[in-house]
Amino acid sequence: MDQRVAREELARLRREAARRRARRAAGDHTRSDSGATWAVQPRLYSVDLDDGRVDVNAEKVVQRLLRNGHEAYLVGGCVRDLLLGRSPKDFDVATSARPDDVRGLFRNSRIIGRRFRLVHVLFGAGRVIETATFRRSPQTDSASNGDDLLIRRDNVFGEAHEDAMRRDFTINGLFYDVERRRVLDWVGGMHDIERRIVHTIGDPVVRFQEDPVRILRAIRFVARLDLGMMPDTYDAIVQCRGALAMAARPRLFEEVLRLLRSGASHRAIWLAWETGVLDVLLPELAAYLYDSDGGASAVWALLTALDRRIAEHSIPDDIVLWCVLLLEPMREASAGSRDRVAATGDFLEPLVDRLNVPRRIADAMRRIVAALPRLEAGRSGRFDRSRLYPLARQVLEVRRSVGRRASGS
Ligand code: ATP
Ligand code: MG
Repeated sequence: MDQRVAREELARLRREAARRRARRAAGDHTRSDSGATWAVQPRLYSVDLDDGRVDVNAEKVVQRLLRNGHEAYLVGGCVRDLLLGRSPKDFDVATSARPDDVRGLFRNSRIIGRRFRLVHVLFGAGRVIETATFRRSPQTDSASNGDDLLIRRDNVFGEAHEDAMRRDFTINGLFYDVERRRVLDWVGGMHDIERRIVHTIGDPVVRFQEDPVRILRAIRFVARLDLGMMPDTYDAIVQCRGALAMAARPRLFEEVLRLLRSGASHRAIWLAWETGVLDVLLPELAAYLYDSDGGASAVWALLTALDRRIAEHSIPDDIVLWCVLLLEPMREASAGSRDRVAATGDFLEPLVDRLNVPRRIADAMRRIVAALPRLEAGRSGRFDRSRLYPLARQVLEVRRSVGRRASGS
């Protein structure tokens, strides 16, 4: 989709979403005329997550905040993962305490972030517990501007229930009370955990317009956690995918990497392709998947091999991840060319611009792809002294593991 079409489409969607928001506001009973928020009661679920799976440091942070008269909960991805029976990558805390109060309670802490100030409480072995003050969605703020839903300000302090509502998906909006061993649910997340489904909090069209990167997050959670997606959320992804062209490019770059690192890259890229998201994000790859005879199955096989490698070994370098994703179309673009580095560079140029791919990564990709035919033929020459050589070998290993699987050896 070109930029002009994307802009017109975005303007139309925003008008539509503004109308929905106005309708929603007309029936909104959570705020009084004075703008004060009425107390909103969460559903409570007694759940004992405390069988050694809750990080002791996170628990210490919560306990100290509670002892000092603040509210504090475990929130977000860690609660979701524990409820789904998985090990969380990290533990986040949300609290009524302001950043300076948190900082004052933990000697081993520092305030980070300019737009929204968070506190990192530091423990041994580089462990960090991110502790954030409750905030509310800027959309419920009178400062929201016209029919433009894109969130630019995200730094208004709020209450626990508002902090739950501003989150992206119901499964990410659950709060865990460590002391009383119960989940506080303002968003219907427990039901969706049970149904294993990804569903936005509120109208998916509005939520994707506010922040189109949520589209890629939805795809990541479905793929990585092996969940289903609510039909309205799926439809909204298809409808709003053009808005991704307006998102901050470094965030898009990082989110594509997260899809690749997820260990479920095949499923994630497949879903991105099926919803048309790939046409906006990586049209070069989408076109290759549509057009090439047999090439598409090679792309899927490489991603499956990448997922297997991540499960069996570890997550490869970003350069390797990008090379594997784009290997087939890059090979096609450079095949038969006398200057394969330049040909791959031409292919990558628009993509580098669209996703803000760092030069360092794009240069490495060009050189690795150009060197692969020689490496495959066992003629690495001077390239084996290059710092890129180990990375090129990993790309080759992923490629060879496809061949081994296919031949059953
Ligand atoms: P992961 O396990 O991949 O880290 P996560 O859910 O913890 O998944 P984070 O990016 O670490 O994802 O974000 C932490 C929490 O912050 C999320 O669970 C969600 O509640 C909230 N969040 C993150 N990004 C957004 C967003 N774009 N819009 C709304 N809420 C968000
Ligand atoms: Mg996280």
